[in-house]
Amino acid sequence: MKYYSLHHQSPLVDFRTATITGQAPDGGLYFPESIPKFSAGFLHELRSLSKATVAFNVMRPYVGSTIAEADLQRICAEAVDFEFPLVPVAAEVSALELFHGPTLAFKDVGARFMSRCLGYFAQRGDTPPVTVLVATSGDTGGAVASGFLGVPGVEVVILYPSGKVSPVQEQQLTTLGQNITALEVAGTFDDCQALVKQAFLDSELAQKRFLTSANSINVARWLPQQLYYCFAMQQWPVGAPAPVVSVPSGNFGNLCAGLLAQASGLPLGHFIAACNANEPVPVYLRTGTFTPRPAVPTFSNAMDVGNPSNFVRILELFDNDLNKLRAALSADTVTDADTVAAIRQVWERDDYLLDPHGAVAYTALRRYQAQHPGSAGLILATAHPVKFPDVVEPILGRAIELPAVVQALQGRAKRSVSLAVNYEDLKAYLM
Ligand SMILES: *Cc1c(COP(=O)(O)O)cnc(C)c1O
Repeated sequence: MKYYSLHHQSPLVDFRTATITGQAPDGGLYFPESIPKFSAGFLHELRSLSKATVAFNVMRPYVGSTIAEADLQRICAEAVDFEFPLVPVAAEVSALELFHGPTLAFKDVGARFMSRCLGYFAQRGDTPPVTVLVATSGDTGGAVASGFLGVPGVEVVILYPSGKVSPVQEQQLTTLGQNITALEVAGTFDDCQALVKQAFLDSELAQKRFLTSANSINVARWLPQQLYYCFAMQQWPVGAPAPVVSVPSGNFGNLCAGLLAQASGLPLGHFIAACNANEPVPVYLRTGTFTPRPAVPTFSNAMDVGNPSNFVRILELFDNDLNKLRAALSADTVTDADTVAAIRQVWERDDYLLDPHGAVAYTALRRYQAQHPGSAGLILATAHPVKFPDVVEPILGRAIELPAVVQALQGRAKRSVSLAVNYEDLKAYLM
């Protein structure tokens, strides 16, 4: 498999180069040259296959010969080594719970897969030692820190805004040690992001350190997200019509991966892009005009993205044809008030606790079903509610129990390096 740049000004590359560099030299995102089709046998046997086998089958064509078969098998098995249950929530709605990984975030799968691929390339001497530099508003940093912990040849530097991530998220970032360093920035997430962007453009720094990023523009983080949809279909009732799939979306990597799995032949139904007040995609589907905007803060803060980077990949998948896209994908905007109302209603009536991101997906699915009666659907539950105590605990009326992976972090010493919002200080640190 080769990958081309969506800006069409860079050479084709293999999976290895796409993973190591993240983005094409012309600034474009990489996109696979062809879309592999799942075999009839694979689809027929899907329910009886192990998660590791599903993962290997889906990822093999994308990785090609850049990783030896036995190593890719191990990488796949480790990336999906936890549960992905499809849980009934209410009539005609199930939740695919993606928050049972080590950091309770659906980003764990992509981060674990990418880290092991980079570790493989680094160990074989295919790349100089790599520094993964990433800014986080919360979830990405924890998943990346946990995914890359102890991976030889890879150092991880995470910038996070001091006082603006939740206590659980901060513990996930700052207590691991080893090859993970947390830089606690006296500023906002946007400041962190700006510092990281400047570092990637610094040619003097590039002489010293091989920098790469670990967000979903990287194919090794983006592509494994197809697996969630395969795991959902392993559990979807036999013989039932294809599910409507509602995806809480920020940078649109997850949704784009679902559309990719569908294009490969996975029998999924209509897709819904469930958005919070950050709504350039719903506006685009309504009007045909795409206008990025500065992000506005909401309760579903992992989706506070004003210019979703993966949306260009969705357009590419649909040949930039708005009508084709509209036939496959709807989009909806859900306010914070509606998010809270959904969490309360589902908790009180159905005894299921949604997190704010899942609640956005739930609300968008319910509105779609009101227009399309009889269409059973699923939501992707992307985060554990324990990460959002300020929103869910007032509804619950008590403190939410900490899962074991979070309890294990309690009492561990926090280690972070304080940083002013000053690029020269970051550069000095990295040099
Ligand atoms: C990152 C994230 C999202 C958004 O996923 P995208 O692939 O960026 O659209 C949704 N929910 C949670 C909890 C996340 O952490």
